[in-house]
Amino acid sequence: MILALVDCNNFYASCEQLFDPRLRDRALVVLSNNDGCVVARSARAKEVGIPMGAPWHQLKDQARRHRVVALSSNYALYGDLSARVMQVLSGYSPQQEVYSIDECFLDLTGALPSPAACGRAMRSEVLRLVGLPVSVGLGPTKTLAKLANHFGKKRPEFEGVCPLHELPAAEQERLLAQVPASEVWGVGRRISQSLEGLGIRTALQLKKASPAWIRRQFSVTLERTVRELNSEPCLELMAGPARRRQILCSRSFGTLISELAPLEEAAAAFARRATEKLRDQKLLAGSVSTFLRTNPHREDHPQHFPSLCLPVQPTDDLRRITAAALNALRRIYRSGYAYQKTGVILTDLTPVERRQGDLFDDPVQLGRSQALMEAMEHINRSMGSGTVKLMAEGSDPRWAMKADNRTPRYTTRLDELPVAKAVSRKKISPYSGT
Ligand SMILES: [Mg+2]
Repeated sequence: MILALVDCNNFYASCEQLFDPRLRDRALVVLSNNDGCVVARSARAKEVGIPMGAPWHQLKDQARRHRVVALSSNYALYGDLSARVMQVLSGYSPQQEVYSIDECFLDLTGALPSPAACGRAMRSEVLRLVGLPVSVGLGPTKTLAKLANHFGKKRPEFEGVCPLHELPAAEQERLLAQVPASEVWGVGRRISQSLEGLGIRTALQLKKASPAWIRRQFSVTLERTVRELNSEPCLELMAGPARRRQILCSRSFGTLISELAPLEEAAAAFARRATEKLRDQKLLAGSVSTFLRTNPHREDHPQHFPSLCLPVQPTDDLRRITAAALNALRRIYRSGYAYQKTGVILTDLTPVERRQGDLFDDPVQLGRSQALMEAMEHINRSMGSGTVKLMAEGSDPRWAMKADNRTPRYTTRLDELPVAKAVSRKKISPYSGT
């Protein structure tokens, strides 16, 4: 078996640079929800030492010195470009596991003329058709493909594609000896610290450890990692659209919220987003949960983390799902807390074909419900999400996220299409000041 792991380089930053050439050589960072922390860095931002995950407000001095551009997350853009990358890659293998927004595994066993040639073709094809740089790692197991990807990305001699399985054994060992064990997939910081206490510091040392001993010292999970490092596949490729077990929609608010009314509007908006995903996947929900969270970092605030799950007759009707989500919210809400986040989770998902007529379900009502949902979808698809929505969402979302410096949604909004002459477009100014 030969698996490929394809990973986009600096994904969010590369998406932004693709549409704004002025950003190509700049130190660029993308910030998390509410412009909190650094979640992506361009190559230049890495060079000047901007740390991943750091809160932006702590970086202001460094940012000014290196003229760092900070952008809010533009999830509509990243999601759309991700779908295009995955689409191009899916042409190279019938077995594709989309592992995250910017990574997928592909089974390239028996690929012609060779898996390595296929890897190089994928890299140039994604660059040509989508415009984004990717790195490709190839190996006989997922863990080795991941590690190969790391080499492909970090070592210029591979030019973005590392076919680890084709290298002589001695060369493979030399590479593995230079990688800290913490870089191996599935070895977190805590495990790598314990490993270090046992004298295991590199990927090569982990590979040479006895699987049985590792299982006794740690877990069967880490034992699998050791076996995978020795080319023994233990982790299956999960190809095909995995049947979702749940659909979750949730966001942190731009400010803390204490009153019920704006929480209801937020929960209604998340219920709509969740229902859109549910209907896209042709599923029905049998339970609707709503949760609330205060800010756990505000130790001076009283904390409240309630949630409630309500069963419903399996449905994909927005009105029923919203009603259940709001019902749950009103039952868990307590005044006197400053809430940071709410969310709606749909569970007990079943395919829509298995809709069971309830004794009390009126077929005429069901037909009307479907017609209404389809009409809403049609309008929202052609005129923009949220053009038609339930009153429960309100019209002035006080709960909305902070995203002060988001770039246009170039590929998914007609009114935000890039223009050739840069006259009508808002100039992107670095957060750090001019
Ligand atoms: Mg990546």
